[in-house]
Amino acid sequence: MELLKQAIMEKGSVISEGVLKVDHFLNHQIDTNLMIAIGKEFADKFKSNQITKVLTLESSGIAPSFMAAQDLSVPLVFARKRKSITMNEDVYSSMVYSFTKEVTNEISVSKSFLSYGDRVLIIDDFLANGQAALGLANIVEQAGAKVSGIGIVIEKSFQEGRMKLEEAGYRVESLARIQSLHNGKVSFLEESAL
Ligand code: 5GP
Repeated sequence: MELLKQAIMEKGSVISEGVLKVDHFLNHQIDTNLMIAIGKEFADKFKSNQITKVLTLESSGIAPSFMAAQDLSVPLVFARKRKSITMNEDVYSSMVYSFTKEVTNEISVSKSFLSYGDRVLIIDDFLANGQAALGLANIVEQAGAKVSGIGIVIEKSFQEGRMKLEEAGYRVESLARIQSLHNGKVSFLEESAL
């Protein structure tokens, strides 16, 4: 997605060989016009899949998922990283190792919001080693629902996330695919290489 690649080139900063910071438009300050365009792009890619719910992970997944859910006319559910005191014990949960925080979090979704028969589109901001997406997929499957696809805003294709998700049988659609972050520079996978 050209608009997203442009934002990454102009406003992203490479923190290390493995980490890209995009606080200017996605992870701290939010570019609302870009999020609307991203949401529409996801909705377009999955519009023939009879999606009934969009599922993401708080907090950075919420903005790009919002417009996708709106465009698909379905509810957006976000998994919580910390249990709220208002959340009773009736939850589906999964353990997820955080690539950026280097801690394991239990993520949970109330059983009220996912049901047998749901066709779920999972969306997340980044794909690194696939732990967050696999944790969300595990929650969907605990509910007896189906993962209809996984939408990723920024995929770091040099890490093993996509391979793991495809091996597990999921369709993955990423809006920007990064080949490397060598020497402080972002290189995208060429469309012809896909
Ligand atoms: P995974 O679970 O696929 O290993 O990592 C994905 C999660 O880690 C995303 O939810 C995202 O929050 C975070 N993440 C992974 N890599 C990066 C990165 O390069 N930059 C930022 N800002 N977050 C990342």
